[in-house]
Amino acid sequence: MSVQPTIAILGGGVAGMSCALWLKNLGFKPIILEKNTCLGGQLTTLPTINRWVLGFSEHTSQQLAAAYTKHIQSTDISVYYSYQLLAIQQNSHGFQLVIQKNALSRETFSIKALIIATGARPVGYEVIENIEGFTPELISNRVFFLPTDHLEQLPHLSTKTIAILGGGDNAHYTAKDIATRADKIHLIMRSSAIAQTLIRNDIITLIQENKLIEHSHSTITSMYAEQNKIGLALTQSPSLRQTLSVDKIFIRCGFKANTEFLQNSELLKRVATNQNYILTDHVKRTNIPGIYAIGDVTNSDDPSVVNALAEGALAARDLSQHLN
Ligand SMILES: Cc1cc2nc3c(=O)[nH]c(=O)nc-3n(C[C@H](O)[C@H](O)[C@H](O)COP(=O)(O)OP(=O)(O)OC[C@H]3O[C@@H](n4cnc5c(N)ncnc54)[C@H](O)[C@@H]3O)c2cc1C
Repeated sequence: MSVQPTIAILGGGVAGMSCALWLKNLGFKPIILEKNTCLGGQLTTLPTINRWVLGFSEHTSQQLAAAYTKHIQSTDISVYYSYQLLAIQQNSHGFQLVIQKNALSRETFSIKALIIATGARPVGYEVIENIEGFTPELISNRVFFLPTDHLEQLPHLSTKTIAILGGGDNAHYTAKDIATRADKIHLIMRSSAIAQTLIRNDIITLIQENKLIEHSHSTITSMYAEQNKIGLALTQSPSLRQTLSVDKIFIRCGFKANTEFLQNSELLKRVATNQNYILTDHVKRTNIPGIYAIGDVTNSDDPSVVNALAEGALAARDLSQHLN
């Protein structure tokens, strides 16, 4: 019996799991190397109904993550959790990969190809930490950046003034969720709003009903403590300045690809990126032969479950055409 070629997948989100399943069905031996202690990636953080995956209209993203995880666990695909990538080198057979499995043991794999599926994460405190007056004490328990972290707080927002930073879909969805609860909402964005038409129209209605104030082309120039609140100095143009006094700030300023680890390896440093997102061709090949990238780590424009699932399949099929 011929030996099945091993393919390593970095990242066990939906893209990595989809690719692993396709590779297995196509006759390979996929292994998933996941930084965290569970599979599912961003989906595991989202308790809301996911309306975008055909056939699963009643499922939350967390339930989708659980269903995908169960599927992988029902196979013999090996998953290494909380691993550390120690080295990766190219050789005549493909690549040699060394990982730290746990405090005591290392493992070396001879792999034919590497799939990078490390996803993306919400931009966090880095948006505000260089603003004059920022201190960790000032923002303690009052600034949040995970896309659904306002949901648990909704019951307590009724007398509060809220600032939401960002002008994209997530900022709009958060503003809509909070609109019927908070006393005042300020939606603050550096340029103008870029959101899907439906949610944008909802926000325009809220603005017209005086339930929300939008500050476009605005920058926060300083932050300061003000009794129990955070004071924000806002500049809209050189002549238009104002101050706001807010109880909480929700940061909704987009996402960042998880590609920092590329810099720890001479080989992976050569993977081409644009603004930290990995560049690929139409079948998800990077500029380095044998290295593919799939899912949100390659996709700043259309991140979604179905794109991540499909990209896993695309990469697996291309690999099977070239390696089998
Ligand atoms: C608030 C929000 C709402 C969303 N709503 C929807 C929706 O309704 N419908 C929809 O289709 N999509 C939605 N999405 C997008 C969807 O969740 C993502 O497109 C999808 O989960 C991306 O999957 P992924 O596998 O590419 O990346 P991720 O889910 O980010 O998974 C990447 C995995 O790689 C791991 N990892 C990171 N670095 C390393 C490393 N160095 N080595 C190994 N592993 C690593 C991570 O721990 C993670 O498990 C939403 C996203 C957010 C944030």
